[in-house]
Amino acid sequence: AYNFCAGPATLPESVLRQARDEMLDWRGTGMSVMEMSHRSDEFVQIAETAEKDLRELAGVSDDYAVLFMQGGASSQFSTIPLNLLGEKGSADYVNTGIWSKKAIAEASRYGKVNVVASSEDSGFTTIPDQSSWQTSADAAYLHYTPNETIGGLEFGFIPDSPGTPLVADMSSSMLSRPVDVSRFGVIYAGAQKNIGPSGLVVVIIRKDLLGKARKETPTMMNYQVIADNGSMYNTPATYSWYLAGLVFKWLKEQGGVKAMGEINLRKARKLYDFIDTNEFYANPIDPRFRSWMNVPFTLADDALNGEFLKGANARGLLNLAGHRSVGGMRASIYNAMPEAGVDALIDYMTEFAKERG
Ligand code: PLP
Repeated sequence: AYNFCAGPATLPESVLRQARDEMLDWRGTGMSVMEMSHRSDEFVQIAETAEKDLRELAGVSDDYAVLFMQGGASSQFSTIPLNLLGEKGSADYVNTGIWSKKAIAEASRYGKVNVVASSEDSGFTTIPDQSSWQTSADAAYLHYTPNETIGGLEFGFIPDSPGTPLVADMSSSMLSRPVDVSRFGVIYAGAQKNIGPSGLVVVIIRKDLLGKARKETPTMMNYQVIADNGSMYNTPATYSWYLAGLVFKWLKEQGGVKAMGEINLRKARKLYDFIDTNEFYANPIDPRFRSWMNVPFTLADDALNGEFLKGANARGLLNLAGHRSVGGMRASIYNAMPEAGVDALIDYMTEFAKERG
């Protein structure tokens, strides 16, 4: 089966097999990783190796702290303003879809949010040209969502943000292609797409941005505290951290982020090209900003959606229904989705259109 779920999403099969093989007895310790003390030498080794591999994969320098936090990406929507708003009290946000809106709503509870640009009028089908953004001189940071998982809208470029730390929710695009981390103040990503199990959230933060949290910030949300304690201020999500480490090793074996980016581009191009050339299917997104990870599409007749999904399921093409807020279909084709999965989907779509179109 091929699982096209947007998250939790498909993981590399070899990773799952390794986790299964090591489940009861991790390397002769007589313990599952799940049963180990997070302070044990064994787990510390697992945790440090995962961080090292992530740093290598993403090109993260020593100027940045890497944190393995909990509460998913959504908890970062409040953690960020609590830590970064500081005395300035206001931040710039770009509104390109449902996840941007959630981040904006949460930050608005803590300070002034200036929405510098929005593509809501277009139904979130494009990215507003950066020359039109109304940025403010006193913003503590500029937040954006490089890939809108639900809409299938992706920046594909890093916005300019001279003098203002750039903060990015990379939940659904992290490690999918090379990114210059040095352009960012903070990158955060819920793990359940390209990294591992849900609940875990990886945060990459420039060290000069630590230590600025408001005093009422919950300790568990204070970046400085988490960094000072090696992400072990409390008991971390040990098993998720271990699985993330296995995924990082797998990605290194695939040739790293550059090689993965080439594969991802190929997969996405193939699927969009098919959608664009087959009259039965459509994708509404400005072709310049189509997501490499999440490909929404509609059928010529919505009344056929149920039949399409049923037939897909029967062939082992799983979780193709679009997000409940937008309907239609969505194929999420993260790193772990093999090219053969995209080919199988296109074969099915071709047949379905022939029969029912
Ligand atoms: N941001 C983006 C871009 C997402 O795709 C998601 C979830 O799927 C989230 C945030 C929320 O993540 P979580 O469910 O881990 O809180």
